[in-house]
Amino acid sequence: MQPNTTSAAIRRRRTSPVASIGIGTTGACASGGMWGSSDTEGQRIRAAARKHPLRSAVTYLSDPMASQPTPFQPVTHATARGLRWIDGHLDLAYLGLNGRDMRATVPATAPHALTLPALREGGVRVALGAIFTECGGNPATEAVAYRDSDDLEGAHRAGLAQLEWYEAMERAGEIAIVRTRRDLARALAGEGPLGIVILMECADPIRSPDEVAWWHARGLRVVGMSWAHGSRYSGGNARAGGLTPIGRRMVESLDASGILHDASHLSRAAFDELLATSNARVIASHSNAAALLPDSERHITDAQIAAIRDRDGWIGLNLYGRFLAHERRATLADCVAHSMHIARIVGASRVGLGSDLDGGFGREQLPLEIQSPAEYARLLEGLENAGFSALGGTVDGYTHANLARVLDASLPS
Ligand SMILES: [Zn+2]
Repeated sequence: MQPNTTSAAIRRRRTSPVASIGIGTTGACASGGMWGSSDTEGQRIRAAARKHPLRSAVTYLSDPMASQPTPFQPVTHATARGLRWIDGHLDLAYLGLNGRDMRATVPATAPHALTLPALREGGVRVALGAIFTECGGNPATEAVAYRDSDDLEGAHRAGLAQLEWYEAMERAGEIAIVRTRRDLARALAGEGPLGIVILMECADPIRSPDEVAWWHARGLRVVGMSWAHGSRYSGGNARAGGLTPIGRRMVESLDASGILHDASHLSRAAFDELLATSNARVIASHSNAAALLPDSERHITDAQIAAIRDRDGWIGLNLYGRFLAHERRATLADCVAHSMHIARIVGASRVGLGSDLDGGFGREQLPLEIQSPAEYARLLEGLENAGFSALGGTVDGYTHANLARVLDASLPS
C-alpha cells in the first residue's frame, strides 16, 4: 500500500467479508484489449506505447517441470502464461473490503489492474496478501480503519476483518491460504487456486506480543511492524523513531512464532534496531532503491540492501510509478534500473517482484509497459538486456524461486 492512498482513490464502504467477495456475482466485463478504447488516458497510453514499443515481442519462458533453474531464453510474449510468479505484495483484502469485485475480470478501460482473474492471466501462482489497515480513519464508517495506535480494539477489528476476508475467499475456493511448506509447493505447482501467504502491513491489529501465536495459528506468516505512519511497535518511513519497548517484545514474539519480518515501511532507525534485536531473516516485500530516488525513507539504502543480503533475505520490486521515477511516467527501464541496482548488492538470487498492484493507486501510475500482471513478463526481457543473467540471475529465480526459498525457510513443514 502506498502513502498517497486516499479515500477518493478507493471508495470505502462498510461491508461484511463474505458479502464483499462477490460470491454469486459474475465477472462484470469480458476482457478486452490491453489498452482502453475510449478514455483519454487510455488513448494517451496507447499512443505512447506505439512510440516506445518493446524491441521485439520477446519474453522468456520457464519450464514448470524443470528441476534446474531455466536460463533466459527468448520466446513470444504470448507464452507468458507459462511463467510462475510469486508476487511479494498485494493488498487484496483491503481492496476487496473496499468494494472491488476480486472475482471479476478487469475491463480494458478500468482504472485498476488487480483482480484474481488478472493474476491468473499473468501466471501469478502465489502472492503475499496484505492485511493493510488505515490508521486515522473512521472505524464507524470504514471497515478497514481504526482511530490511532492506541485504539487496540479498533485496529484488531479492522485487521481481523481482512483475515476473515482471506478465509472467506478460501472457503469459496478462490484462494488457498499458504500455511505450510507443503501448501507453498502445491500452489507453485498450480494445484488449486492462487496461494496466499498472509502478510500484515503494520502490526497495530495485534493487540499485544502475547497475541502473535494466535495470529500465527490463523495463518499469519509475515509481519511488517509499521506502515509509513508508525505503529505502537515501531517508527515508520514517514515517522522517525526506532522500536518502542513493546516493539522489542513484539520482535521476540514474531521470532518465537517463526514469522518473517518485512522491513519495507520501517524507519531507518527501526530497521537498524530490528537487525540488532533479531537474528532472523528479513525481507523488503515492496521496496525500491534509495540510491536512485534519494528523497524518502520509503526506499532502501545500499547499506540496508547489504544487511538484507547478510540475512539471506529478499527484496521485491515495487511497481508504483512514483517509487520508480520522479516527475515523469515510469517505464520498464526504471523497473530494470531498480532491480539491477538492488541485485548487484543483494545478489540476483534475492530479488523478485513485490508489485503492490494497485494498492492506493491506479493503472496510470503503473510503468508504461506494465499495465497488468500479464505484462510482468516484460520485466524479464529488460533484465536480460541489462545483464541480469551475468549476475547469476535466472527466470525461475526472479519470478518465484528466490522468494520461495526464503518462504520455505520460514514456513512450518
Ligand atoms: Zn506498502
